[in-house]
Amino acid sequence: MNIHEYQAKELFKKYGVPTPRGHIAYTPDEAVKAAQELGGNIWVVKAQIHAGGRGLGGGVKLAKSTAEVKELASQILGMTLITHQTGPEGKLVQKVYVEEGADIKAEYYLGMVLDRALEMPVMMASTEGGMEIEEVAHNSPEKIVKVAIDPTIGFQGFHGRELAFGLNLPKEEINAFIKFASSLYKVYMENDAEMIEINPLIKTGDGKFLALDAKMGFDNNALYRQNAISEMRDLSEEEPTEIEAGNYGLSYIKLDGTVGCMVNGAGLAMGTMDTINYVGGTPANFLDVGGSASPETVAKGFEIILKDKNVKSIFVNIFGGIVRCDRVANGILEATKLTKVDVPVIVRLDGTNAAQAIEILNNAGISNIIAASDLEDGARKAVEAAAK
Ligand code: ADP
Ligand code: MG
Repeated sequence: MNIHEYQAKELFKKYGVPTPRGHIAYTPDEAVKAAQELGGNIWVVKAQIHAGGRGLGGGVKLAKSTAEVKELASQILGMTLITHQTGPEGKLVQKVYVEEGADIKAEYYLGMVLDRALEMPVMMASTEGGMEIEEVAHNSPEKIVKVAIDPTIGFQGFHGRELAFGLNLPKEEINAFIKFASSLYKVYMENDAEMIEINPLIKTGDGKFLALDAKMGFDNNALYRQNAISEMRDLSEEEPTEIEAGNYGLSYIKLDGTVGCMVNGAGLAMGTMDTINYVGGTPANFLDVGGSASPETVAKGFEIILKDKNVKSIFVNIFGGIVRCDRVANGILEATKLTKVDVPVIVRLDGTNAAQAIEILNNAGISNIIAASDLEDGARKAVEAAAK
């Protein structure tokens, strides 16, 4: 789960990670009020969407008067912001963060992620702040310093010094940086974060470190014990069909191809999508019905997949282990009664009672249900049907 910049900054404040002061606004008038409350004579109006690259897309703008704050807020609120992370369809801006303008003397990058290979969180810093870190990692990886932090000992001074040296900070600034980084480590660990990105971390004219931007992602499996974080969830930032699927215990991820996939198990989903690609097609989604492929879940699965108008065929690829294939076949027939399925459905069932299942499907005599003999055969048939 991801949160907005303004929410991440609120969390930062609780842990003593310095950020500029700011207020959230849903209307241009609220933006003006926010600016007046902050005082000063320079403000930044920032679109709040779950994507980076807002500055380049026109979603972060500097204002030199409250009249300008109002004008910029009315431009940004309601705009469909397109950045390299939103995809070509962009994202609707529903709120802006009005922040005091910071006096930027230097821009750095500071981030934290879980390194699954090391089994430890890693903190990363770079002098190349304000740029896309993926590009820095690609073109000049030596400009990124990384330290792995063993959670059993926690963040120590030497971790901070290693990062500070990597940033070429002068001696007198090192302690302030270590304090910043060690507070950030606390934010990460105590809230079960998966990712924090501060790009840019700035040094101000009076030598302070400030998180000018803040991006945070959390471990969904830990949300049950992070109520304060769960409450920050913004459903309007998520794919509506994915939320609906979640309510029915289905895992659904929307993709941009034409072959809908209904499978049981994430590994099989991966294999199915790979095979569809291998035979020249593109998967429209990843839908995992889980262990219980009952008529109701299968019907709900069809309904969700068919909400995507790009879907031209559906490939049902289910392995009957605990759930028997004949029951799944009957489930599919039942499901087509519950939901109008108007695209070809290619079904490959393997495992317990697979032969009976194929017989059931063939005997049903429904013309748009096509039985497949194996994975590759099914994928080919589904891709061919989608191309028609
Ligand atoms: P994004 O990464 O989505 O483009 P940022 O929060 O990093 O959004 O803002 C983009 C740029 O705008 C920053 O690199 C910085 O130069 C400028 N900026 C952002 N917030 C402020 C602020 N409070 N004061 C001054 N400049 C800012
Ligand atoms: Mg940024």
